[in-house]
Amino acid sequence: MPIIGTVTTKAMTWQVTTGDKTEPYEMPSATYSVVAIDEINGKKTYITNIWHKEYKQVPLVIVDEIVEKYEPVILPDLGGKTGTTDIELINKAEEIEAKIEGKPKPEKLTPEEIRTRLTELREREEDPQLTMFSFGGGQDSFAILYSLIYNKEFRKKYAPNDFFIVMSDTGNEHPHTYQAVKEAEEICKKHNIHFKLITPDMGYHTTAWPDLKTNLKKNSSILSAAMLSKPCTPNLKINVVDKYMYHYMCELYGFEELDRKKSWEFYRDKFKTRARVLIGFAKDEETRAWNSVRNHQFLSAWKKETMQYTYPLVEEGINRQDAQDIIAKYHEYHTYNGKLTNVMPPSNCMICFYQSEQELLWLEHHHPEELNEWIEMEKAKFKETTDNIPNVRAQLEAETNLELKEKLIKRLKGMEKNYGVYGTMSLPRKLERAREKFGHWTIEQLNEYKMSHGHCIKSSF
Ligand code: SF4
Repeated sequence: MPIIGTVTTKAMTWQVTTGDKTEPYEMPSATYSVVAIDEINGKKTYITNIWHKEYKQVPLVIVDEIVEKYEPVILPDLGGKTGTTDIELINKAEEIEAKIEGKPKPEKLTPEEIRTRLTELREREEDPQLTMFSFGGGQDSFAILYSLIYNKEFRKKYAPNDFFIVMSDTGNEHPHTYQAVKEAEEICKKHNIHFKLITPDMGYHTTAWPDLKTNLKKNSSILSAAMLSKPCTPNLKINVVDKYMYHYMCELYGFEELDRKKSWEFYRDKFKTRARVLIGFAKDEETRAWNSVRNHQFLSAWKKETMQYTYPLVEEGINRQDAQDIIAKYHEYHTYNGKLTNVMPPSNCMICFYQSEQELLWLEHHHPEELNEWIEMEKAKFKETTDNIPNVRAQLEAETNLELKEKLIKRLKGMEKNYGVYGTMSLPRKLERAREKFGHWTIEQLNEYKMSHGHCIKSSF
């Protein structure tokens, strides 16, 4: 993320009230790197890069009143870590940077321009020796699978040499997705394609994230649409798939599995090209794909040098309907809600916080036990957080270290908000609202809706 300047705060004394106790809180002068300047509630604010350093998802924002001085300066990109970036901030930083340099504001790319750029990026590369397809079990994934099998030009363009498919099991996929994955396994076997569904027992998932519900229950936690941090995608998908990809690459080319970075660099030196990862975003998700590409600037250096990410459906202009048409052409059968169909529904976790109100109603009808369990998980999270507030308050009162005190204050604020799956609206209330709005829909209408909605629509890869 480009640094656009530095901001130095004034040394100040705050009166901090915790419970019924008020005490002074000394804040020494400090200097921070700034990535953007914004106006919040009509007041100038400086957005710092401190969240990169601390691996947090929320940047430290400094209000103008406590600023001693601001010095605009453009330093080289300091880098960061995967999954800690916020594309809105990058956009904002670029705008400010352009303003400081007197350049015109960067224009927002049209979907067409994004497609062209993605193609240019891919064509700039030598053909990869190894291509991996990260399979999701839904329609976009099947459209890519069938295109790779039956469309020679597509195969040559996107997976010209060695190729394999991998999917990480979140442990909370829909039964229809597990069924579709089995079908994909059979298709791959028939066409001699290596396909691997990675389940938690195989050692690629971490002990902290063996599957979605185990992690959340162990921590009395839930995933919330209101939180910037969405740890499920990196922990249950990206990292797992990455580990398997490394293992498979070593096995395929006879490398020893000693060090991931070194082995991938060895691969690149041997084949003089980066390995390719195919991502199943579709047409109409151009911005999502472009944001992911931009986020790749924060990957570690060795990863940038050894991996390239390609979005075939975006490049080819294949949208959800086109994907369904491709599947319908080749897929023999699939049972969805007791009926035979040749297209499988999209995939996402059954308790995914991205679900719309209609999808909640669908879940209530088809998997009420799953919805009830989710509601109980949310209740447990609310209770655990509320019960814990007095402990954190006590810790704050006893803490003398200023830095730790500041962290505890932040933590307390977050706990007091006590967000549920849909932010301040609890799951039962959201469900009530869904019933008010869509309660008149028939089951067929809900099934129809579910067929074309729902996957990890916001996360980036
Ligand atoms: S489907 Fe939803 S809950 Fe599951 S990994 Fe993706 S974002 Fe997370």
